Amino acid sequence: MDCIFCKIVAGAIPAHTVYEDEQTLAFLDINPATRGHTLVIPKQHAPDLFSVPPEALTATALAAQKVARLLQQVVRPDGLNIVQNNGSAAGQVVMHYHVHLIPRWTGDGALRMWRPGQTDHAAFAALAEELRRAQEA
Ligand code: AMP
Ligand code: ZN
Repeated sequence: MDCIFCKIVAGAIPAHTVYEDEQTLAFLDINPATRGHTLVIPKQHAPDLFSVPPEALTATALAAQKVARLLQQVVRPDGLNIVQNNGSAAGQVVMHYHVHLIPRWTGDGALRMWRPGQTDHAAFAALAEELRRAQEA
C-alpha cells in the first residue's frame, strides 16, 4: 500500500481528522491554502473522478457538504471553493480521489483561477453536438 491517503485511512500515518463516517474521512490539508483547508476522501481507494464508484462519489459529496457547513460555522469564511484535481496535468499530486474545501476571505488572493477564453459559438455547437452523440454510442 503506497497510497498516502490509504495510509491515513488505515491509521498508519497521522492526520488532523475533522469528520469521519463509514465511507468517508475528512482531515486538514498539511499545506493549507487558507485556515481550515480540508480534504474529503472516500475510504475506498480510487485514483480519480473517472474511476471512483458512484456510491463512494455520492458519499464524498455529502460529506463535503457537511464539512463545508462545519467550516462555515467554525472558521466563518466569506466564501468557500471546492477544488478537485484529476491527473498530474490538472495538478493532482496524490492519486487517491479527494475534494479540497478551501475557505476564502475577501481579498485573500489564495487561489489563482483560470483566465477566461474567447467565446466561439461555432466551435461550441460542434463540441456540444459531439458530446451529445457520444452518449448515444
Ligand atoms: P492534489 O494536488 O489535489 O493531489 O492535492 C493533494 C493535497 O494533499 C495537497 O494539498 C497536499 O498538501 C495534501 N497532502 C499531502 N500529504 C498530506 C498528508 N499527509 N496530510 C494532509 N494533507 C496532505
Ligand atoms: Zn488510496
